[in-house]
Amino acid sequence: MTSRRDFLIGTGSGLASLGAAYMARAQERPPNDPNALNLIDEIVPPGGEPRGRPLVVSTWRHGLPANEEAWKVLKDGGRALDAVEQGVQVVEADPKIASVGYGGRPDREGHVTLDACIMDETGNAGSVAFLQNIMHPISVARRVMEDTPHVMLVGEGALQFAREKGFKEVDLLTDKARAEWQKWLKKAEYDPWSPPENSTEGQTNHDTVSMLALDRQGNLSGSCTTSGLGYKMHGRVGDSPIIGASLFVDNEVGAACATGVGEEVMKTLGSFLIVELMRQGASPQEACEESIRRILVRHDNLENVQVGYLAIDKQGRVGAYDIQPWFQYALTTTDGKTQLVDSDSHLKKEE
Ligand code: ASP
Repeated sequence: MTSRRDFLIGTGSGLASLGAAYMARAQERPPNDPNALNLIDEIVPPGGEPRGRPLVVSTWRHGLPANEEAWKVLKDGGRALDAVEQGVQVVEADPKIASVGYGGRPDREGHVTLDACIMDETGNAGSVAFLQNIMHPISVARRVMEDTPHVMLVGEGALQFAREKGFKEVDLLTDKARAEWQKWLKKAEYDPWSPPENSTEGQTNHDTVSMLALDRQGNLSGSCTTSGLGYKMHGRVGDSPIIGASLFVDNEVGAACATGVGEEVMKTLGSFLIVELMRQGASPQEACEESIRRILVRHDNLENVQVGYLAIDKQGRVGAYDIQPWFQYALTTTDGKTQLVDSDSHLKKEE
């Protein structure tokens, strides 16, 4: 039997078909209604059960301890923004995680360079890119959002700002990451998309932590932080600090985040697209699948293409979809239980 997904990809008419379905549901909602937020709560798009609130999700296995930390904020009625900042800080500070913050793989010249962004329930956003020597880039991004008239600071300017705000400088290149980089230098073959030799199955040499939270008050926030692609070009910035690419939050609708090859996410502005599709009535799952489809249609060969999306809506429906069959995310539900969930994917695992 042809699944809905096969049909959408196979015919290439995905958006038109989905658009009609979404519009039918969206029409149940009067335009410009000042209570639109409440009305959205009453509309139940298909796909994924409403899990209520509070709720927190984050990318990959390293999302498990991040969610536990975020939950400490959410369980007592704390703000989603605090939860998503404090949650991903755990991953930033963990030297064992080779794709985020301290212990992250350096670029090809041996510098650990960091990208991060954060977005709150009012639509405010802050980000830093190409930041070095700071343990918690997510917190610098929050300071950019709250203490400056800007959204994004990069490189030396971001570091100068961090210093002014009292952030201490630390060397983020651990002995282990340095040794692996030096080994890589012997051949210096730039293949940022392949799993490194010593990785476990499903781990590539990049894996951002992105987190979305819905707090007890019904407010959404999101965060994203990474050291980016291992052995990237010096100066390369990925999707992670780009609002709308790696992260987008709209408190009337939902939130979405990304992991994977940032160049693909940036070219399709994937997280913004997901939220906009949800606004038109798509479930988080449908919206993630459509956003992945926008990448699929650009490639004949998917061997080295990996992007994963994760989304939640105001009712606590969760959606996730990726290209390769290995994306996982951490989910913490209203009962405080945290589990690792296998995402559905475009390519399936070989039996
Ligand atoms: N999106 C990140 C980047 O391109 C890497 C990843 O999430 O795997 O820098």
